[in-house]
Amino acid sequence: MTALSDIIRADVRAMTAYQVADLPEGFIKLDAMESPYHPFAASPELMEEWGRQLAAAPIHLYPNPAASGLQQALREVFDIPAAAEIALGNGSDELIQLITMLVAKPGATMLALEPSFVMYRHNALTYGMNYVGVPLNDDFSMNLGAVLAAIETHNPALVFVSYPNNPTGVGFKREEVEAVIAAARGIVVVDEAYGAFSSDSFLNQAGVAANLVVMRTVSKIGFAGIRIGYAAGSAEVMNELAKIVPPYNMNQLSLATAKFAMAHADVIAGTTAKLKAERERILGGLAGIGRLKAFASEANFITVRVPDAVELFETLKQNKILVKKLHGTHPLLDQCVRITVGAPEQNDAVLAVIRKLYAS
Ligand code: PMP
Repeated sequence: MTALSDIIRADVRAMTAYQVADLPEGFIKLDAMESPYHPFAASPELMEEWGRQLAAAPIHLYPNPAASGLQQALREVFDIPAAAEIALGNGSDELIQLITMLVAKPGATMLALEPSFVMYRHNALTYGMNYVGVPLNDDFSMNLGAVLAAIETHNPALVFVSYPNNPTGVGFKREEVEAVIAAARGIVVVDEAYGAFSSDSFLNQAGVAANLVVMRTVSKIGFAGIRIGYAAGSAEVMNELAKIVPPYNMNQLSLATAKFAMAHADVIAGTTAKLKAERERILGGLAGIGRLKAFASEANFITVRVPDAVELFETLKQNKILVKKLHGTHPLLDQCVRITVGAPEQNDAVLAVIRKLYAS
């Protein structure tokens, strides 16, 4: 009899699962770029109206995302060009998976920058694509020459650029990303998961360059729990993508919530602005501490290099604060940790621990 371990792919058996923190009560969770705020909690009226919308959602029926009006609402709120088609995913994670599946022919290559969001490579390997990772420069800027040379050599079917980049927070130069889109013959996904916190976006180019797909998510702006991502691109790409989206991949409760959120986009934008101001306040606080380097960020997190990342990670943990230890995940992230921007009192707690640790 064949053992199950012989049936299941050896490369999958060799993988490690994506780690999701299981936190004890009372911890400050700053490891996953979630918003510290429930998006409607500050307003009893909004909470009530949202509850009514949820109650009215036809949960006995399969969802029809196209008829839900969410795509149109996203188009209006984010000014997505009429030429672009919009796909919805169960988080942008699902869209990364689907776009990979769209091009994963035997021998096809995915190219991404390193370090970047780990799920790009993970999907390439899961779907049997070759993977080429082009290292960033030491300051986490893009090595455009190396990227263009790799595009020339490997002719990737798919390129992922996280703009701004996770896990570094650094934004690349717009002209560099434009050069990548122009040079690639394959699809270029500009992943703007952190776009709401950035000073630049490619959404206005969606549908303009045929090979460009701009991907976004509502996860970082207060809705990580509803799992909605969206991608805007040319009809040439998006109409094919639509064929492999699983039927009913979105659910009625999430669709209703996202639509409600778009109707109150000003409230969401207000929270985003508050978090951006907090990001700058934290950076200001860290700037005065000589023994660490905080990298300028265009996202809702800050990556810092310290004398001993394990020591900082453990000290924060002893103080009931969870951040992401990047050290050990990539050579360029030596002695780095990544701290999500939280509410002011949470950020104060982080700063206090860091100040105390590096005061001497
Ligand atoms: N892209 C990037 C760059 C990310 O950092 C993340 C979340 N860690 C995602 C995509 C996935 O986001 P979600 O599935 O929550 O939309």
